[in-house]
Amino acid sequence: MRADPLLPLYREQHDARAGQDRLELLTALIGGPAFDPLLRAEVIRFPARHPVFGWACLVAGCERARGNRPQMCSVHYEQWRQAQARGEGMAAFLAGAQPLGTSVWTQQVPCRICPGRPATHTISRLCNRHNMRWWRRQREEGQQASFEDWLASQVPLDEYGRCQVAVCPDLAATPLGLCAGHDSRYQTHGRPGGAQLPPSWSRTYEVRGLPVPVTCRDQARFGAWCAAQPPVPWPGQLILTGLAPLAAAEIRWCLFAHTKRQRHTRWDTAWVQALASTCRAGGTVSLTELDLSSCTTMAAMVAREMLHDLRLAYFTPEGSKDAGFIETSHFGVRFPDRGSHFDLTGISQRWLRDLLWDYLAGMLSDPGCPRTGGTFDAFRRAAAELGAFLAVDAPAGGCDPRAADRRAHPAVRSRPAAARTRGPAVTGHATSGRQTVGRHHDHQGHHLQPCPQAAALGTGHRRSRAGRAAPGVHHLDARGRPEPGPQA
Ligand SMILES: [Zn+2]
Ligand SMILES: [Zn+2]
Ligand SMILES: [Zn+2]
Repeated sequence: MRADPLLPLYREQHDARAGQDRLELLTALIGGPAFDPLLRAEVIRFPARHPVFGWACLVAGCERARGNRPQMCSVHYEQWRQAQARGEGMAAFLAGAQPLGTSVWTQQVPCRICPGRPATHTISRLCNRHNMRWWRRQREEGQQASFEDWLASQVPLDEYGRCQVAVCPDLAATPLGLCAGHDSRYQTHGRPGGAQLPPSWSRTYEVRGLPVPVTCRDQARFGAWCAAQPPVPWPGQLILTGLAPLAAAEIRWCLFAHTKRQRHTRWDTAWVQALASTCRAGGTVSLTELDLSSCTTMAAMVAREMLHDLRLAYFTPEGSKDAGFIETSHFGVRFPDRGSHFDLTGISQRWLRDLLWDYLAGMLSDPGCPRTGGTFDAFRRAAAELGAFLAVDAPAGGCDPRAADRRAHPAVRSRPAAARTRGPAVTGHATSGRQTVGRHHDHQGHHLQPCPQAAALGTGHRRSRAGRAAPGVHHLDARGRPEPGPQA
């Protein structure tokens, strides 16, 4: 009953055709008109105020990213903590908070003069060279210096090309060929391969219009480092470049499914990126074969949720019945605070499991469907208990519903009087089951009056001790199918 709900995915992967079928299925879904085109891109950039993957500070107009703080930038988060300590509420704090401008880059922005060079200063939005030139102009002319006039006199400088890190879409910041983020990481990693620029390369070469010589001790090692690096973690950015097609499609589909949930957990794009990077590094073909222990804690959390969504996509309702579980989401139902998945593999008799599946599916399709998952739990428990009894006492472990019939199974007639006087027990789905489960409970010391929903597993009628028909439990015919009720 507590089987890992992800197990069906793993069981299925032994099917050699599964991978291709799954890719075709997801490709069709992703290509469908309802799919969000934003999620089809190789480099996905969520808007700062995206309803699900937004990354902007909660304070209206604040241009800073949340970073690791929940909901707010670090400055506002600190102010909020102080306000909280004074007893202020969130609404009052947000109403009074002053928005802040950009202080650090939230994505790479080109220099306002050179389209091929990244800006390095958030206020002037100029590359290093132009920023230096503007600084000199200000030093010479002081307050008289006009930025607009100076801007009009400038021409774009040559670009350094794209960052050499395979998955990085950013511009290189220096002739070394790395963006600022990867250049800093290269330094931290001890410069594998020894790629480097000469000291004072800008003054010595570039300013004089000379080509900048780049030296590299071990080009292959530098290339391997560039090939293996994950992207720079910009807020709201997710790069799926280099992933196996199925893994990339799975992540895209799951991002979409996440946006469609009425209530969703927080998925920081950095966590999803960490998951994608783990898949890329390990050559993972599908999330269903990913070793979750190789992921960071948050990436594993995201992966588990994604696998639940994939199970919904990969299994049809009929397939789920075959595999021994039911997904309430297949019927457009989610019970409060519950997942979609109800594992039924704890019921060892296939006929009984299928019977329960049909009944639960009928309930899910009915406008009068229960409002909580507790009802489903009770039905499942009842069926499992009946199954457990049949497994022990019925011929052939109760796997043949004909053999589980009371007329063919003397054990059921020996149900203790005490149990009978307490009324029908958990179920009476099989003619034998209604009584025998009561006995089973009696022996086990369990409660003999489970919830009425549990007794209503069937679709027929329950005969009370007085012989009247009562709604609830149905009877099975010799083939394990419901018998018509006495009035039918
Ligand atoms: Zn803020
Ligand atoms: Zn520039
Ligand atoms: Zn880069």
